[in-house]
Amino acid sequence: GSTIGIIGGGQLGRMLSVAAAQLGYKCHIFDPHDAPCATDVAAHFTRAAFNDREAIERFGQSVDVVTYEFENLAVEPLQGLGDKLRPGAKSLAVAQDRGSEKSFIEKCGGRVASWREVLSLEEVHAAVGELGLPIVLKTRRYGYDGKGQAWIRAVDEAEEAWKSISEEPAVAESGVDFAAEFSVIIARWQDGRYAFWDSAENEHRDGILRRSTVPSSETVALQIAEAREAALQIAEALGHIGVLTVEFFASENGPVVNEIAPRVHNSGHWTIEGAITSQFEQHIRAICDLPPGATDLSGSGAVMDNLIGGDLDRWPQLVAEEGAHVHIYGKGEARPGRKMGHVTLVRR
Ligand code: ATP
Ligand code: MG
Ligand code: MG
Repeated sequence: GSTIGIIGGGQLGRMLSVAAAQLGYKCHIFDPHDAPCATDVAAHFTRAAFNDREAIERFGQSVDVVTYEFENLAVEPLQGLGDKLRPGAKSLAVAQDRGSEKSFIEKCGGRVASWREVLSLEEVHAAVGELGLPIVLKTRRYGYDGKGQAWIRAVDEAEEAWKSISEEPAVAESGVDFAAEFSVIIARWQDGRYAFWDSAENEHRDGILRRSTVPSSETVALQIAEAREAALQIAEALGHIGVLTVEFFASENGPVVNEIAPRVHNSGHWTIEGAITSQFEQHIRAICDLPPGATDLSGSGAVMDNLIGGDLDRWPQLVAEEGAHVHIYGKGEARPGRKMGHVTLVRR
């Protein structure tokens, strides 16, 4: 049997490992933490820093293909993996930096919010002048779940916002007055084949995804064709192999790309029970060169709710609910804002 290497041992690595096991593969997790939750279900574990070149090289030799569930990785030490790395280094490099990400999306013909790079408070003020208000500052790197972001709604908030993101290299982007948020998840194969799932409409609170619903509202449905075209252009330009997620705002002017993730995504967790083939299985199929699985809905729709922090306490009621598919990640301490699990209801 073949072994799949997964860099990052969080819940996405865990769900990828479950899908891989079902297809007969073993997984080898690479992660710097002590007992990341993916290691509960994976066959092998290497504990080492993400930038440990020698450890990555040995890891690469011990597996047949390497993928990642996390994009905040140094690209350079991974380059030695060559074609074994799927998706490749380009997908990782573009997606992990909001500056290169936005330039790349624009080059692919996608629409993004008006934006500027900002390296100093003076440049933040200049961005306020050029873009108007409100704007949001986002660190170029390492942000997730709304971390590393600060809104500026009035001119006198600029200084505090810049300080609160620790004066890191950042982008300033216009606040988008959106009617809804949604995501396009595409899986792409080396030979150019690709597949989409229905697009989920996504609700966030405090920068964190709370709920994904399929099918989406009519407002979103009207923008999906254009959004899929943009996602496909991006995937092709990256030469992407595996699952790629593109987050959108449904605006008055059409779909606006918020950001991309070169991986399976929280807004696709509903596919585990709500679609014929889940995003996790499809990612394994794509990186292992197996044929695409069908992506149709298994019922008439699905709703996925995240269990964040103390929401975990609700699990006894949730597992008692008929038809509720409860997923607990086994992550230990249920700190506020931490994704601890999710629950999906499939509509018959
Ligand atoms: P993720 O966990 O999805 O990677 P992230 O930390 O990268 O999150 P973003 O996706 O950039 O954060 O932003 C989180 C949420 O904040 C968005 O889904 C949206 O609700 C809101 N938001 C971000 N940027 C904008 C914007 N320019 N205009 C309006 N809302 C925004
Ligand atoms: Mg992000
Ligand atoms: Mg996001």
